[in-house]
Amino acid sequence: MIQAQGVGKSFGAHRVLNQVSLDLAQGEVVAVIGPSGSGKSTFLRCLNHLETIDEGSVQVEGESLAAPDASGRSVYVPEREVRRICRKMGMVFQSFNLFPHMTVLQNIIEAPMTVKGLSREEIIPKAERLLDKVGLLTKRDNYPGRLSGGQKQRVAIARALAMEPEIMLFDEPTSALDPELTVEVLHTMRELAREHMTMLVVTHEMGFAREVANRVAFMDQGQLIEIAPSADFFANPQHERTQAFLRQML
Ligand code: ATP
Ligand code: MG
Repeated sequence: MIQAQGVGKSFGAHRVLNQVSLDLAQGEVVAVIGPSGSGKSTFLRCLNHLETIDEGSVQVEGESLAAPDASGRSVYVPEREVRRICRKMGMVFQSFNLFPHMTVLQNIIEAPMTVKGLSREEIIPKAERLLDKVGLLTKRDNYPGRLSGGQKQRVAIARALAMEPEIMLFDEPTSALDPELTVEVLHTMRELAREHMTMLVVTHEMGFAREVANRVAFMDQGQLIEIAPSADFFANPQHERTQAFLRQML
């Protein structure tokens, strides 16, 4: 579904991603872990063009988003194509990013109406099904300010799903939440995984990585140090830096 090959990214002189490669298969859940500042968010953002890559290539469902030219610099496909391809990916952020002046329902139907051109009649029943799925149908007409963090995050997940993405990218979706609210968001994500949604999840939740992810990747200092099936990853981490990180986390 996603193939990232040799991705490099710098902010000024600071090289934040160095030769990062990752294949995400259809229906697969990959957790990305690693210390603060290791480049996890930047990598995720490079996959859906919230950041541009300098080197390497990104393909989504076999379609090239960016690939190196003769000089080795990555070049993007035309903007229209970039937008179309990136619509295959939904993203959920740590900070929810709901529109505060819109109700829960309006938050969910906004993009399908403006970006996909669906009518209210078409999208509202679907939005209600999604709200039901995340357990928040009764909050339909509330404003985000009246919701708990966990509820906001579940609305954010429903909002991303309303665009019918092929792939969901999650950037620490629970790290702004208290433990009891984390549980409900992880539950929603587990359900998605059970339905075989393809997911790339940056997380500090080692339990989720161990139990839900098919594979776990460890990033450190802009490099993807190690990636392995989750049981192997935790039972037998190969790299010394992975071992040190896990000792500190577990
Ligand atoms: P955390 O676990 O704290 O979220 P992370 O692994 O997601 O960390 P990134 O946010 O990807 O790390 O940041 C990687 C490095 O890139 C950091 O040193 C950060 O300061 C730097 N960085 C990220 N975004 C920018 C930006 N827009 N401009 C300049 N530097 C940036
Ligand atoms: Mg981050």
